Amino acid sequence: MSEINEFPQTLTIAGTDSGGGAGVMADIKTMQERHTFAAAVIVAVTAQNTLGVQDFMALPEKIIDEQFASIAADLKIRACKTGMLADAEHVRIVVTNLKKGDFGPLIVDPVMIAKGGAALLADDAIQVVRDELVPLATLITPNLPEAERLTDMKINSKADMEQAARKLQEMGAKNVLIKGGHGDEDEVSDLTRLESGKTFWVSAPRVDTIRTHGTGDTLSSCITSELAKGQSMEQAIRIAKKYVEAAIADGIQVGNGHGPLNHWA
Ligand code: PLP
Repeated sequence: MSEINEFPQTLTIAGTDSGGGAGVMADIKTMQERHTFAAAVIVAVTAQNTLGVQDFMALPEKIIDEQFASIAADLKIRACKTGMLADAEHVRIVVTNLKKGDFGPLIVDPVMIAKGGAALLADDAIQVVRDELVPLATLITPNLPEAERLTDMKINSKADMEQAARKLQEMGAKNVLIKGGHGDEDEVSDLTRLESGKTFWVSAPRVDTIRTHGTGDTLSSCITSELAKGQSMEQAIRIAKKYVEAAIADGIQVGNGHGPLNHWA
């Protein structure tokens, strides 16, 4: 039995992307590519392609609970992540299930709005994320608009990013990674503030490409995988940044819109 569970197993709790580039699909591809075994709790199903999100539906509570129960009864998850959670009710369902089981460190990717502008999280869910999900997060990985929304502050500088990271820790997240990709500078700088209070920046030149669909999912899934394999939080983040940079540089054009990252980078 123990031998069965030695292989590092990861879990994504998120929404699907019928177009294959983001959400659960990007998560599973990344987790596999990073040599972990990926399980998935599907919270919502999107009708989506590289042009945008045409529609979505969140699943009933019963089948979400049952997915968690099936996984808990059989697999040994070493690290997990959340992605698209749709609305306040579904954030609560996920929180309840996370508290019931042991799925290892939790990476919260607080997905709010897709690149095309579709809201993947209802407005009424923000407060529930702040109050109930953030305190469970081993790491939270907001982009700039998500960090602004969660902290209720405008972020215009690196000092603002540092203040937002401290605020997210005060809200209960152990470690915080704020992604600078939605800014307008030539260099993309991401800030990490670790549980110890140590902060560090990882910067990379901005790549001029539209093939960035699923970037956030890929980053958080790579971090989840590296933690599952035993890396420290700092190393997991540094490895994931490099992995995503390479995957963006190597992006492939499928579809007519924002192409996905290349998952065999
Ligand atoms: N669709 C789903 C289901 C997602 O979870 C995400 C994740 O952020 C997206 C779309 C967003 O994709 P994009 O990188 O194009 O903003």
